[in-house]
Amino acid sequence: MSYKLTVGLEVHAELKTKTKMFCNSANDPFNSEPNVNICPVCMAHPGTLPVINKQAVRHVLRVGTALGSNLADFTEFDRKNYFYPDIPKGYQISQYKYPLVSNGVLAGIAIERVHLEEDTASSSHEGSEGSLVDYNRAGVPLMELVTKPVIHSAEDAGRFARELQLLLRTLGVSDANMEKGEMRVEANISISKTDKLGTKVEVKNLNSFRSVERAIAYEVERMTRILDGGEGEIVQETRGWDEVAQKTFSQRKKESAHDYRYFPDPDLPKLKISEIPEFSNEALKATMPELPWEKRERLVREYGVKPENAEAFTVDSKLGGLFEEAVLATDSDLSVVTLLENYITSDLVGLMKGSDSFGGITGATLAELVLMIKAGDLSSRGAKDTLAIMYAEGGESRAIAEKNNFIQKNDIEALKKIVEEAISANPTVVADYKSGKVALIQFFVGQGMKASKGSGNPAILKQLFEEGLK
Ligand code: MN
Repeated sequence: MSYKLTVGLEVHAELKTKTKMFCNSANDPFNSEPNVNICPVCMAHPGTLPVINKQAVRHVLRVGTALGSNLADFTEFDRKNYFYPDIPKGYQISQYKYPLVSNGVLAGIAIERVHLEEDTASSSHEGSEGSLVDYNRAGVPLMELVTKPVIHSAEDAGRFARELQLLLRTLGVSDANMEKGEMRVEANISISKTDKLGTKVEVKNLNSFRSVERAIAYEVERMTRILDGGEGEIVQETRGWDEVAQKTFSQRKKESAHDYRYFPDPDLPKLKISEIPEFSNEALKATMPELPWEKRERLVREYGVKPENAEAFTVDSKLGGLFEEAVLATDSDLSVVTLLENYITSDLVGLMKGSDSFGGITGATLAELVLMIKAGDLSSRGAKDTLAIMYAEGGESRAIAEKNNFIQKNDIEALKKIVEEAISANPTVVADYKSGKVALIQFFVGQGMKASKGSGNPAILKQLFEEGLK
């Protein structure tokens, strides 16, 4: 019998606000000049007092609203005491007993809580000058989301983290780039053969979705080896992720909550959320944009978009915007939706080569392009070529197609002449066709396409040859 994996995630995200969590210093942790966005409050000078950033509180309440969570009525901030040079006060202001948000669900995963705290400074231990600390990040508003331990595969953990990133971006509360550390995922991992959870380890420094998935898979292997191989017991500890070696490594034995001596911060007021009108449930709901899962569902329901393309248009909202603009420009002609989906997700994305530029293409010109295909004016080959020219130079589909002779010949008289010539030029093939080798019709269509220099409409040619060969 194999082990059952159980994972709980803790995700920190830097919130987008003008100023820091408890002072007026700019929230700009990536300023190239170190230690410029600081002030006596975030540098913990004696006699200074913190002030709560309302925008940061609103961000977390909006996340809670999107997740269908319970929003706290009473909430307070606590001190989490520990020493490290990146935490000048000797404690981090966080939330312990009364988080702003509890419960809720995302991507099918139950959420325990979402609370608000402050980020630490960033330290660097590279170079010859010893360790350096940059306090630009100290005091930046930080949201911490904790899931319940209900994730049972590495893939589900990765899926959850991706969906959370998309939600934070959709709400505009965080840029949530993992490689920049704006969103940081920690995974609490255990395995067990019974319903009782096994000893967990916490893996940190996961700075991509891939490393989240790989670290979990690595831990499952490592723990299984320990338990099955009689190599002693799993130790409860914090482990790091080595991106180069693709392995986790032991960092330190895990502290317990009581080691931090949490207690309510006496310098900050307790909040009664219901006393703040703009934080009422209705007021917060009114600030909700269309959420990712609502958009996926709507694209499928309203336009019949394929689920994988609904996903692409949701994850890349710019691409989704172009798609919807194009649909509207066709007067919502749903018969061309599949064409639009295909030309955007395959041809246009190919032309974009990883950039976010649509070049000279707009929703209106895309609409015209697919309507021309539908009318039989453009073959798929001609459409691809038109699209490439439009991407590079801009302009309107019909004008480009006309200028470059991409318009399909639907002129029946001209095509009939081509058909007659092809039939009289190939008497043996005609005889074979008439003796039953009907697949030879493709040969004739090919001859017709050749004679029309690719501009003949193959469907019409086929029909004319079938008639001519009777
Ligand atoms: Mn935290």
